[in-house]
Amino acid sequence: MSTPPPPSSGILRTEPAPASAGATFYVAADKIYPREITGRFARMRNVAVVVLLGLYYGVAWIQWDGHQALLFDVPHRKFYIFGLTLWPQDFFYLALLLILAALSLFFVTSLAGRLWCGYACPQTVWTELFIRIEQWTEGKRSKRMKLDQGPWSREKVLRKFSKQFLWIALSLFTGFTFVGYFTPIRELGGAILSLSLGPWAAFWVLFYSFATYGNAGHLREQVCKYMCPYARFQSVMFDKDTLIISYDEKRGEPRGGRKRGTDPRAQGLGDCIDCTMCVQVCPTGIDIRNGLQHECIACAACIDACDDVMDRMGSPRGLIRYTTDHAVHGEQIRVVRPRVVVYACILVGVAATLVVSLVTRTPLILDVIRDRNALYREVRGDRIENAYTLRLINLDDAPHAYRLEVAGLDEAELVSPTGVIEAQPGEVSTIAARVQAPSSVAHGVHPITLSLAAVDAPNIAVQEKTRFLGPQP
Ligand code: SF4
Ligand code: SF4
Repeated sequence: MSTPPPPSSGILRTEPAPASAGATFYVAADKIYPREITGRFARMRNVAVVVLLGLYYGVAWIQWDGHQALLFDVPHRKFYIFGLTLWPQDFFYLALLLILAALSLFFVTSLAGRLWCGYACPQTVWTELFIRIEQWTEGKRSKRMKLDQGPWSREKVLRKFSKQFLWIALSLFTGFTFVGYFTPIRELGGAILSLSLGPWAAFWVLFYSFATYGNAGHLREQVCKYMCPYARFQSVMFDKDTLIISYDEKRGEPRGGRKRGTDPRAQGLGDCIDCTMCVQVCPTGIDIRNGLQHECIACAACIDACDDVMDRMGSPRGLIRYTTDHAVHGEQIRVVRPRVVVYACILVGVAATLVVSLVTRTPLILDVIRDRNALYREVRGDRIENAYTLRLINLDDAPHAYRLEVAGLDEAELVSPTGVIEAQPGEVSTIAARVQAPSSVAHGVHPITLSLAAVDAPNIAVQEKTRFLGPQP
């Protein structure tokens, strides 16, 4: 059974159905009206919202070397990441990037708790923006609550319509921008303006718009409470030295009202005046004074609210604060712990691997497969020939002409192909190659190397080892 919310917590509860035949176990979600909040952490969250949304909506429009700077061009199987062009064959780099992102999240969580949830998660960021729109159109918290409880009037229709209009417009622009990272955004914009958008593009724009509208406009904290997998497993990364937001029970209890500037101890009270401001500002509608709860997204709104109350009461700030379990219980704090060190080492190792492999990446792949039908052929009586199938992939953004050479066996000669091999960007070419060597040197098994180098770009070259077979000596 859930604990009833404190008075004026801003949660509107529906009365539970009486236990009778036909009664349902389903209980509608309580609507939460978070109170507006100002303070240092609210300012930090505002900065995070502006920066992250600015990046999201802005980066899609940046051009780089004649193409969109960040574009996952799935139909053409090319991923543009600023100056870097990745192909499906470069999946390794994308996998490393994803591993790096996951490890960074683990590292930050073990060190600083749910910083991601409170400041950078898309759900938090867009919900913040949608709440701002709600505040502009429907007014402050008390006004919004009154508006919802009151009858439909001209003002209510106007306010609700303005909110929905802005929410839907923002959702559509968000969906359009998201699809713009997979289809060139300028072409997408042109297609929308000329009403020539294809059915799939239209479907995905509407799908992501609807997801934004539903998640940030209506579901809000329910996504964090019931749908987010990270909220479920992040607790395993916590220990008693992880940064959390906590209410100082020793200092705050017993809670109770008192006059401004009076000494609570003299009245047998703690510092908490039981004003419920920390509950009213909470976007997930919880009471942090009940202890650490998985619904807490660590947004720090309750810290700002309580600090403000403490300032007014003439008490020191920090009744609710960022702290650790060890610090709360007066034990020694350890920032450097085995799990933090392990995450940091793996993170550095993966990051170094990614950087080194990107710096040394050659935009050319050569695979050599020996002809399985014949080990070797005797040609012109005194020569031995081996056949190979080469698979060449040009991973560069420009077309190139390549020359193939053989090395590793004296007097071995490449008889085909002898001219240059041309390949367009992203082209996969299959080439039949033949190598010959005099019978006098070709007996037995000889390791050889096939080298492929771009004639117009000396830094693009790869080598592949294979074998040259001759008759048994
Ligand atoms: S805001 Fe501070 S003083 Fe007010 S109820 Fe919450 S913890 Fe107590
Ligand atoms: S308890 Fe405090 S930090 Fe946690 S979600 Fe609510 S307001 Fe944010």
